[in-house]
Amino acid sequence: MCGIVGYLGDRDSLPIILNGLKRLEYRGYDSSGVAVYNGSDIASCKSKGKISKLEKQLQKRKNISGGIGIGHTRWATHGEPNDINAHPHVSQNGDIAVIHNGIIENYEPIKQELIKRGHQFRSETDTEVLVHLIEDIKQNEECSLYEAIRLALSKVIGAYAIVVVSSLEPTKVIAARKSSPLVVGIGKDEFFFASDATPIIEYTQKVVYL
Ligand code: GLU
Repeated sequence: MCGIVGYLGDRDSLPIILNGLKRLEYRGYDSSGVAVYNGSDIASCKSKGKISKLEKQLQKRKNISGGIGIGHTRWATHGEPNDINAHPHVSQNGDIAVIHNGIIENYEPIKQELIKRGHQFRSETDTEVLVHLIEDIKQNEECSLYEAIRLALSKVIGAYAIVVVSSLEPTKVIAARKSSPLVVGIGKDEFFFASDATPIIEYTQKVVYL
């Protein structure tokens, strides 16, 4: 079982996300990663192994701070545990990032179709297909990010809890789930997202189990 954490608000999301991921360590994981909207781009950092290794890498980075961010601890199902297969996965243009808990069963035919359409995949994961599919739909349908995610999810078979951030619509965090758990915490002008309530309860008592 992997761990998902997301934040939308006025505080710096990175410490909240790292703190939350540590609270989810009990679920087990093989790698971890974060993506934060830094005011212009989605900046991400990923690492195989413990969260402390990710933190060491983050110390060398300057541009990863902002009020919108997501983080993930991965339990690999598709693709070996390594830095590239770790989440978040970003779209071809790098402006949409996704974290995912679960399995996309029909990822292979969708991936082949997207490759024909010019998409280049970096990882071996089922998850990366989702973010490319969302981007492809958003570009072709010229729709909102929300609508692109809704349409993409209507095409996939499997189990998922996902959280998505994008520099194209940088005031939003979009979350969805089917079969995998996902919890939203509602604070004062801020929102928290997580696989379970453990990372959220220190910030707010208002918790919605989607
Ligand atoms: N199936 C995805 C992967 O292998 C997500 C695994 C998870 O739930 O951590 O990357």
